[in-house]
Amino acid sequence: MNIVFLGPPGAGKGTQAQALAQRHGMIQLSTGEMLRSAVRAETDVGLRAKAIMEKGKLVPDAIVVDIIATRLLEPDCAGGFILDGFPRTLAQAAVLDTLLERLHKSLDAVIEIKVDDDALIDRLSGRFSCAKCGIGYHDRYRQPKTAGVCDVCGSKEFARRADDIPETLKSRLMAYYRETAPLIGYYFAQGKLRSLDGMAPIDEVQLQIERYCQALRLEQHQGHGEAGADQDPAGRAKSQPKARCI
Ligand SMILES: [Zn+2]
Repeated sequence: MNIVFLGPPGAGKGTQAQALAQRHGMIQLSTGEMLRSAVRAETDVGLRAKAIMEKGKLVPDAIVVDIIATRLLEPDCAGGFILDGFPRTLAQAAVLDTLLERLHKSLDAVIEIKVDDDALIDRLSGRFSCAKCGIGYHDRYRQPKTAGVCDVCGSKEFARRADDIPETLKSRLMAYYRETAPLIGYYFAQGKLRSLDGMAPIDEVQLQIERYCQALRLEQHQGHGEAGADQDPAGRAKSQPKARCI
């Protein structure tokens, strides 16, 4: 299975992608990590990316796609891959489609993790952690038992990520709605979109993804074996694009 995860920052895409990859022997592809390793390995494309990054510029889509293309040809990707930070724009989605076609691969599904914006900001913006042992706390939901002292290691030093400040979170959310949210319509039209409630507990979200992937496997299996396989297991015609809540 080849899958893309969509969702705003903080929705838990990375966590879910990692768990799914481990369960199914798929490879989780992070564009940031692929870029860094291409730069380290000093490949042609890595050197081009490095020159651009050293000028403080954003690496263009064409280079990112070259790096993804190279990675997808490695044998460990044969069991399926998961992308969770790419594509971020309609232009990138179109380029990805062209690339996959060229490699005789395709996306099986795009899983959108939906969130409630205010609840997401509330959940993320109060986070802080112990600077020594790293255990997580929250201003409203999980304060240390003794104010200012870590429950676990007794340290009095705490850290807060710049990303967890409400203003930063809001501007990242706005960037998501402006640039990435149009992909929801794009993949809906391709009949690949599956949306689920990302505000549910992590385990429950994981279970929904797992159920969905099993259904997808079953559909693919039947699709290969039967001539009239235009029905999914629930008996619904699957010729029309549709989004299913799972
Ligand atoms: Zn601690």
